[in-house]
Amino acid sequence: MIREKTDRLGTALQHFRCWLRLLLAGLALHAAAALGQSATLFENAAIITGDGNFLLQADVLVEGDSIIAVGDSADFVVPQGSDRVDLSGQFLMPAMIDAHTHLGYQSPQGWGAEFYTRQNLLDNLRQYAYYGFSAAFSAGSDADDLALSLSADQRAETDAAARLLFAAGMGPPGQGPNDAFLLETAAVESRTGMTVLRGVGSPVEAILQVREVAAKGIPFIKIWIDDRGGSQDKLAEAVYLPLIAEARRQRIPVFAHQQLATDMPPLIDAGVSGFLHGRLGPDLSAATATASARNNIFIVPNLGLGELRRETIGRDPFLRAVLPEDQTRRLATETAQRRQQPSRVNLREEELRASMARLLAAGVDIVLGTDAGALPDHPFGYTGHRELEIYVRLGMTPMQALVAATSAAARHLNQSDLGLIAPGHRADLLILNSNPLEDIRNTRSIAAVYLGGNRVDREAIAWRLRDP
Ligand SMILES: [Zn+2]
Repeated sequence: MIREKTDRLGTALQHFRCWLRLLLAGLALHAAAALGQSATLFENAAIITGDGNFLLQADVLVEGDSIIAVGDSADFVVPQGSDRVDLSGQFLMPAMIDAHTHLGYQSPQGWGAEFYTRQNLLDNLRQYAYYGFSAAFSAGSDADDLALSLSADQRAETDAAARLLFAAGMGPPGQGPNDAFLLETAAVESRTGMTVLRGVGSPVEAILQVREVAAKGIPFIKIWIDDRGGSQDKLAEAVYLPLIAEARRQRIPVFAHQQLATDMPPLIDAGVSGFLHGRLGPDLSAATATASARNNIFIVPNLGLGELRRETIGRDPFLRAVLPEDQTRRLATETAQRRQQPSRVNLREEELRASMARLLAAGVDIVLGTDAGALPDHPFGYTGHRELEIYVRLGMTPMQALVAATSAAARHLNQSDLGLIAPGHRADLLILNSNPLEDIRNTRSIAAVYLGGNRVDREAIAWRLRDP
């Protein structure tokens, strides 16, 4: 009886939701028409929706910056005078999200604190747009007031750049990022007078810092749990427990950089929302994977950072498109570190594959992240495509990898309007010439990128990055 009632209530709710969605779509149409916003119908595309679904052939109606309808355009009202873009033979998917990056320090001229400016942040975000990215999460290394003002401006105006997401960084006083990076974050602090890192030396300090972050409206917190091989202190449990508890009270997700897989269980118990380094290998147990899944904690495997630095990536035309000549030459040259055919250790590959299999079996949300920009020569955007390649090599299906790069990343970064080809979502579209479900490397076959319904001038971005 009770179940029947609940069922009936459920059905009624579903009807209401359906109706509401139609009403909202209708209102959006009228609003768009009233504003004189342009409408575009993308026709006959194979659609990878971002949540694991595939539509063999469908149409997408975009008005202003939003997706209004997805399906057979015969079933919805297409405003008169809409632009039409025929995507026969092409693939449409949500633009991607990099959930672990460090913006601002890498520039076409070099890497370091001297390049950390608003202009360079925007150029980094434009590089992400060039590579088909909708948003990038900068993990705890930003001048807070600058990042806050830039993201507020991004909300007000549409620019051909990925959306800036960022976190307040916390660690033991004066510590956190790797030793070389730490010098640069300190230099940005002294030059700008803004806060980059928040030192938390005691439980009280931790709670006060979290409250300040909440008052400032910074949406995320990143903590470092790493002694950097003995050169730093590891953030103590006695400090991160109250820190995370207070952040949960303030509804601010806390993401962890953890040194070891064995650091993960206490952080899960403490209530972190995500791990920015997977630490894949024998120590990352099935129990940890299951506990992460049960607590809705995502894991960024973060594998390319070590791997790509052993490759002559400057020989890859997909990267060369945005590299100034001197950097191309340097990154294309074989050195003791960089090889055209880097060797892989079979045992390590087996361990990584087994670890990935445990994560997949546990059903934990794997999210794309690269750590691009944390050190020189790990370029924005390009590394995201390469990271997906590694995921598939280690056992993910291309569809799983694309979910990690789209809806899973959007969900865990609280970007409810990103990561899906569905009505009500932002029209951040990645259009490909070849099928990434057949070969994940086809995410490189970019025909066009749209952000907020506007086509990104990729050539202009590449030209500017190559020849700043
Ligand atoms: Zn990082």
